[in-house]
Amino acid sequence: MKISDIGEFGLIDRIGRTASRNAKGAPIGIGDDAAALVLSPSSTLLATTDMLIEGVHFDLETTDLRSLGWKAAAVNLSDIAAMGGVPRFCLTALGIPPSLSVEDISEFYRGVNACLRKFGTVLVGGDTCASKQGFVITVTVLGEAARKKIVTRSGARPGDMIFVTGSLGDSAAGLELLSSGSGVRGQGSGKTRNSGTRRLIEKHLRPVPRVNEGGKLSAAGIASAMIDVSDGLSSDLGHLCRLGGVGAEVFARRIPLSKELRSAKGLKKTPVEYALSGGEDYELLFTVPPGRIKKLKALPLVATEIGVITIDRSMRLIDELGQGSPLRAAGYDHFRSGRRRGPVR
Ligand code: ADP
Ligand code: MG
Repeated sequence: MKISDIGEFGLIDRIGRTASRNAKGAPIGIGDDAAALVLSPSSTLLATTDMLIEGVHFDLETTDLRSLGWKAAAVNLSDIAAMGGVPRFCLTALGIPPSLSVEDISEFYRGVNACLRKFGTVLVGGDTCASKQGFVITVTVLGEAARKKIVTRSGARPGDMIFVTGSLGDSAAGLELLSSGSGVRGQGSGKTRNSGTRRLIEKHLRPVPRVNEGGKLSAAGIASAMIDVSDGLSSDLGHLCRLGGVGAEVFARRIPLSKELRSAKGLKKTPVEYALSGGEDYELLFTVPPGRIKKLKALPLVATEIGVITIDRSMRLIDELGQGSPLRAAGYDHFRSGRRRGPVR
C-alpha cells in the first residue's frame, strides 16, 4: 500500500496502534497536540516535537534564518499551549547542509532563543549533524500542567460552542504574498511593501504561539477541547470532531479575518478559503460548554465564537444566506496532496 493511499493522518493512526495501549503514565496516548506523561499524582510532563525540512516546510529564499529559528520554536510552543500547559525546556536537533555558515546558525539561534525567552522556556540540549542536502530542523519542547487542567482534543460535546483566538488565514496569505514578491531577499521586499502586506508576511514568518491564552483557558477550566490551528481550520476542527465523536456547524461570516487579509490585493483565494485550508496560523481552536460562556467572557482574552458542536458527526459550513454545505478537511497532508506549505523550486 502506498502511503498516499492513507495519508499523513492514516499513517499516524497506524503508528499509534503499534504503541502499547494505556501505557502506564501516558493516559492520553498518541494523537493529541502533545503527549501528557504523569510524573506524580498532581503533575504532568507535556512533550511535543515538530520537524521542519527545507523545501517542504520552508525555503531559504522566502525566510531569513532568524525568523526560521523563531518559527521552529513557536510551532512547538503552540502545541504545549494547545494542551493548556506551561512550556519549560527545549531541545533542538539540526541537520546542517554545507551551504550554511556559522553566522547563519547563530542567526537561527537568535530567533530560537528570542521566542523561547518570550515564553519562559530554555534550550537544554539537542543534536547536530551534517546534512548532504537541505536544512533539517527538529525541535522538542517539554512543558508542564496540573493533571486535571490539561485540555485534550477529544472533549467536545454536542451543544458546545466553538471559539478561535486571533484571526485566521493571515499566514497562508502572507506566504503567497512573500512568494509572489520574490522572497525576503528579492525585489518587492522590505520598504516597498505596504504595511498590510508586511503584517501578513510577519504572521507567516514569526507566528506568536498562544501560550498565555491557552494557560488562561486551562487555569479557569473553560475549554472542553482544544487544538492549535496548524493545518487550517477545516482540518483541525476535523481532528476535534473525529476525536470527540461529534460534528460541527461553522458560520462562514463569523470566521475572524484580519483587516489586512480582507484588504490584501492580488491573492488567488478568498479570505475565508485561506482561513479554512491555509494553515500555520497557530491560533487556538477550542470548545466551551454553554454553562461556561460567562466565565469565558470575563477573561481578558480575544476569541471569536464561530460555530457549534453537533451530535451528527459531519462538519457543515453555513453561508451568509444560512445555507449549509459539507465542510471537508482541506488542510495540508504531507502524503496526500501535491500542495506544499512553502514554495519549492
Ligand atoms: P501537530 O500538528 O499538532 O504537531 P501532528 O499532526 O504532527 O500534530 O501529530 C498528531 C499526533 O500524532 C501527535 O500526538 C504526534 O505526537 C503524533 N505523531 C505524529 N507522528 C508520529 C510518529 N511518527 N510516531 C509517533 N507519534 C506520532
Ligand atoms: Mg498541534
